[in-house]
Amino acid sequence: MNETTERGEKREQDGDNSIDSTFWPPNKALRQDCSFKIKIDRSPNAVAEASRDFGRLISGRAEGVIAVTTPDELVATIRHANSTGLSLTPCGTRASCGGQSLPNGGLSLDMRNMNALGPVDLQNATIECESGATLRAISEATLRHNMLPNILSFNLDLTIGGILSAGGFGANCHRFGPMVANVKSLDVVTGEGRRVHCSPEREAALFDAVLGGLGHCGVIARATLALRKVRSKVRLWSLLYHRHEDWLDDQESLIRSSRCDYMQGFFWAGPQLLRSTPTGFYPKAQWLYGLSIGSEYDGEAPDDDWMLADLKPSGVLAVDDADTAQFIDLYRDRFVQMRRTDAWQRRHPWIDCLLAPEVVREILPQVLEKLPRAAGDGHRLAWFPTKHLPGLFSVPAGDWAVAFAVLPTSIEESVYEETLAALDQVRRMLWDRGGKAYLVGWFGPMDDAGWRRHYGERYDAWIAAKQKYDPRRVLHSMAFSN
Ligand SMILES: Cc1cc2nc3c(=O)[nH]c(=O)nc-3n(C[C@H](O)[C@H](O)[C@H](O)COP(=O)(O)OP(=O)(O)OC[C@H]3O[C@@H](n4cnc5c(N)ncnc54)[C@H](O)[C@@H]3O)c2cc1C
Repeated sequence: MNETTERGEKREQDGDNSIDSTFWPPNKALRQDCSFKIKIDRSPNAVAEASRDFGRLISGRAEGVIAVTTPDELVATIRHANSTGLSLTPCGTRASCGGQSLPNGGLSLDMRNMNALGPVDLQNATIECESGATLRAISEATLRHNMLPNILSFNLDLTIGGILSAGGFGANCHRFGPMVANVKSLDVVTGEGRRVHCSPEREAALFDAVLGGLGHCGVIARATLALRKVRSKVRLWSLLYHRHEDWLDDQESLIRSSRCDYMQGFFWAGPQLLRSTPTGFYPKAQWLYGLSIGSEYDGEAPDDDWMLADLKPSGVLAVDDADTAQFIDLYRDRFVQMRRTDAWQRRHPWIDCLLAPEVVREILPQVLEKLPRAAGDGHRLAWFPTKHLPGLFSVPAGDWAVAFAVLPTSIEESVYEETLAALDQVRRMLWDRGGKAYLVGWFGPMDDAGWRRHYGERYDAWIAAKQKYDPRRVLHSMAFSN
């Protein structure tokens, strides 16, 4: 590691500067606070790693990496950046796809080593976690008390800071909403270097701006997550459908009856049949739809007839039982395989879009027509209630929304350009129907008009939050380069 202290020139001050004058310009006390030596790693390996995310679609321009290990170091680093004109991009595992965690000519603020976990608070059913803690570490700690965070995303190796800056969808978001809807409080260091404890009751504007906020206004130092009691086993039913109408009907009916603890929709291109078109015979896919539903239990497994009553699948492919700890990691093998092959290193134009349920019903056949076969089998659907979402989390109007995802594990280079163009068409089609980007996916360059479209009536509040909490625009990324 190289050691560096001050570098870079002061930036022009812009935006609303109504900030607490004790924090800017830095007074003597703050300069003393900043006396901890900021270490910037400028080694080629560190810079290369910090310029690359899972998407592999955009290259970042990192100048170095600062890895913080304590909240105090985080405060000092951000204050130092304010006083020197450095810009910072917080990151966890850089699993986002469109440059959200990549610097555009500044420093990567690596949060992974700040990863302590508080004890499980049994009385309040919460756990306090530092930002770099992974969902795996958190769930291991809570399972010792037969508890889990209300909801977990499928990839347990993401950091809690990264996932709460995104959203956090998983197999039980139809019950609890995404992870951002299950946070009791946060410790945030704002872009101006102020450490603030916030919650829905206290400093709510900051709480709302940071959850799902991609590190735009502040850096999450700690989060207190809501926990729930879990049962030891999960029974899983894997259902197959030939008609998307039946598949969607059953998902709605399961939500209404609150029967299952877990639910995830899949769809994939089945047998390719040669069909006549004006320009010759072309293969056409037979689309198939899957539904995985799960119920936790202790002792005797839940009754199949009870769970499947009124549902209309073409067939029940399997009924499996698993330990809950095993179940929450159900995608582990898929991710291990992606890493073993070169799939992890390839480009991932992942489309993640939040849609109104009626739009999914209406638009699905057209989307399937357009989806390129090279996009593979990673198409997913998860329903979630829109109540209790943070104020700046943009979703379509209505009580329910659907996270619609096209997640190719890898795309052959030979068909990459045409696949990307087809995916881009799909993305635009979804946005034209009121879809909102899940902000850690791939959404191409976003100009001001794009952000206005995304945030809609929340746009002014989003701009005001940036001006209030990060007036010197210390926090930035490739995704916010406009
Ligand atoms: C294989 C795979 C599986 C996935 N599965 C799911 C899933 O099941 N559900 C789901 O919802 N998503 C999923 N995702 C997407 C994932 O949620 C996001 O990419 C998530 O943000 C990644 O966490 P991370 O630690 O890698 O964060 P990064 O990608 O490093 O960062 C994401 C964003 O958060 C900001 N950030 C990071 N840390 C902080 C912090 N402490 N404070 C403020 N801002 C911060 C970054 O600047 C960036 O804008 C998956 C991604 C992959 C690659």
